[in-house]
Amino acid sequence: MAALLEVRKLEAFYGPTRVLEGIDFEVAEGGITTILGANGAGKTTTLRALSGLVRRTGEIRLAGQRIDGHSTEKTAALGIAHVPDGRGTLVNMTVEENLRVGAYLRRGKAEVEQDMARMFGYFPRLRERRGQQAGTLSGGEQQMLAISRALMQRPRLLLMDEPSFGLAPLVIREIFEIMRVVNREEGVGILLVEQNVARALEIADHAWLLETGRTVISGTAKQLRDDAQIRRSYLGF
Ligand code: ATP
Repeated sequence: MAALLEVRKLEAFYGPTRVLEGIDFEVAEGGITTILGANGAGKTTTLRALSGLVRRTGEIRLAGQRIDGHSTEKTAALGIAHVPDGRGTLVNMTVEENLRVGAYLRRGKAEVEQDMARMFGYFPRLRERRGQQAGTLSGGEQQMLAISRALMQRPRLLLMDEPSFGLAPLVIREIFEIMRVVNREEGVGILLVEQNVARALEIADHAWLLETGRTVISGTAKQLRDDAQIRRSYLGF
């Protein structure tokens, strides 16, 4: 399958400190790739670097087009949506306003309305709470809103940082199911950072392991599930 995202020699910096040491990876068109790694390995930083939220060097291509010279806003306009850790909903705005903010780069009012209805179809709880302030939603509802807001951009690639963090198992299952639907039915590629490694390897087709800013293992999700180091360190058996 062709690469939707191609990353070469990606380095990222906080001030003078280099946190990513030249990593290479791809996300296939319509694929789900997961980044595994211990705390502090650089997973969140990888997503931030792709969105242009931290200083970076290296090559990033989206559907063959170089995007590493672009601002965060331009990157979003070209089709990369980021659901950050901590969710990043606009807490003083309502559910509906958050969704409209997600669509701010788009024209086509009728399509935006249709997409909003689609989000409410994915997550009926958001429909019931469309007039509620985002800051008063439960953690699970906030995650649903963060994902929906990102999808309102109509992205080609969704960057997801720890979507299950702090959520109850039933809500996690619901969110992963919608990710699968979005990937299969809308063809949105997903790059997933997830501390629940078993779940991440279940949904992903490819995976790679990051250790202190370097890629140490990469392969299909099955290969990584079967890898002794991954099993011992991340799956606990
Ligand atoms: P976790 O699983 O704990 O979230 P991670 O793999 O996502 O970890 P990052 O958050 O990307 O790791 O952090 C990678 C390294 O960069 C860590 O050593 C961290 O301390 C450092 N770092 C992260 N954010 C900043 C920042 N704003 N300023 C300076 N250093 C930072």
